[in-house]
Amino acid sequence: MMQEKTIQLIQSTVPLLREYGQQITSRFYQMMFQAHPDLLNIFNHSHQKNRTQQHALARTVYAAAANITQLEKILPVVMQIAHKHRSIGVEPEQYPIVGEHLLGAMKEVLGSALSPEALQAWVDAFQIISDIFIQIEGNLYRQAEQQPGGWRGFRDFIVDKKVAESDIITSFYLTPADGKEIATFAPGQYISVKVAIPGDPHTHIRQYSLSDAPNKKHYRITVKREDERENLPAGKVSTYLHRQVKEGDILKISAPAGVFTLNQTSVSPVVLISGGVGLTPMMSMLRTLVQTQPERQVTYIHAARNGQVHAMREDVLLLQKRNPQVKSYLCYDSPTMEDRLKNRFDIEGHIQVEWLQTVLPKKADIYLCGPVPFMISVYQALVSLGVDKSCIHYEFFGPSGVLEAANRPQTVNI
Ligand SMILES: Cc1cc2nc3c(=O)[nH]c(=O)nc-3n(C[C@H](O)[C@H](O)[C@H](O)COP(=O)(O)OP(=O)(O)OC[C@H]3O[C@@H](n4cnc5c(N)ncnc54)[C@H](O)[C@@H]3O)c2cc1C
Repeated sequence: MMQEKTIQLIQSTVPLLREYGQQITSRFYQMMFQAHPDLLNIFNHSHQKNRTQQHALARTVYAAAANITQLEKILPVVMQIAHKHRSIGVEPEQYPIVGEHLLGAMKEVLGSALSPEALQAWVDAFQIISDIFIQIEGNLYRQAEQQPGGWRGFRDFIVDKKVAESDIITSFYLTPADGKEIATFAPGQYISVKVAIPGDPHTHIRQYSLSDAPNKKHYRITVKREDERENLPAGKVSTYLHRQVKEGDILKISAPAGVFTLNQTSVSPVVLISGGVGLTPMMSMLRTLVQTQPERQVTYIHAARNGQVHAMREDVLLLQKRNPQVKSYLCYDSPTMEDRLKNRFDIEGHIQVEWLQTVLPKKADIYLCGPVPFMISVYQALVSLGVDKSCIHYEFFGPSGVLEAANRPQTVNI
């Protein structure tokens, strides 16, 4: 229980966190990595460099302070973060390290604006908040390990098959090297892959949504190759997976995680909206829906640049053909001549609110994933059409964020 005085002191820091939050979290990561360079094996370096991680943490700290009397309000964000922590292997003993450097950064950045009493209040509050995370993550570790086919940490999987899905997207079929059972998952969940790239001093961990239906003998992930562009380096892990990992190689992966999951107890129509490689969780949901709820109406909307980069087009069209309850719409913003000649898309350009209105079923459960600007624009369109925000579920392929007008995340290229 937090004392009344502590609560008031934390609340007094809310304006400071609103203004200096990102400076604090930027300094925090610098201090922590300097003192514990081994943590560079866990944290995503690109999210540090493009500053999305600093923004995400600043938002979380601010939200914790602003909701200090009703922390249950930020429980969905806490659960999302806890799943990610479990998936990358964050352990309880790492929390005091985070606390030391986060509070050190607050002290340094805020200087005399932060009274010693307010700093002490943050020491107390951090202890309470980190205990909540440690407890939730402890439960998640136990669940991941104790479920049938489950495990703790990273397990070796063999790349059984590598299948090119488009010019830039490839699927990897992964089977456990020990030949034993694998845990099931909820459609929409992801796994973390940990790679040691020859010549690179650090290991790198990335998340990939499971793109097939659950309860198979394999997991399938589907990865977009992030090529070099506009002075930005090529993506480390995606290019390694595409260019260097071969069939028969071993990948280390953690058990499925994540809170962006298909509600299979609902019978409402489902709308799956994806942009680019954001189709991966939708493919798992779509396959599951036709297998387990054939009576449920499904609207599948996918936006891609054109047919060359569009993955799994034929799979979706086949599912639609075999399942009359499925209706798919493909939107290309730069169709090729071949796309035009072969009539390979339904809509040219971006998804527009007027068009969305014509295909959106009433009272649908909506799932959304894609590049951040795409998600913001579709989310806004849905809200403008009167869709209840609680019916819109979304996943970021980067640090977690929110799609509300205020407090928007920075763009993450996916
Ligand atoms: C829950 C979840 C599910 C996901 N599912 C999928 C999926 O199904 N399929 C998929 O393909 N991806 C998925 N992702 C994204 C995936 O985890 C990786 O982020 C993606 O593959 C890129 O990783 P990378 O190592 O190749 O690129 P990184 O090396 O991490 O680089 C990412 C981007 O940052 C840029 N960058 C690098 N350095 C800088 C710098 N100094 N300044 C600015 N920008 C820089 C790079 O050019 C690149 O474009 C998912 C992510 C999450 C969180």
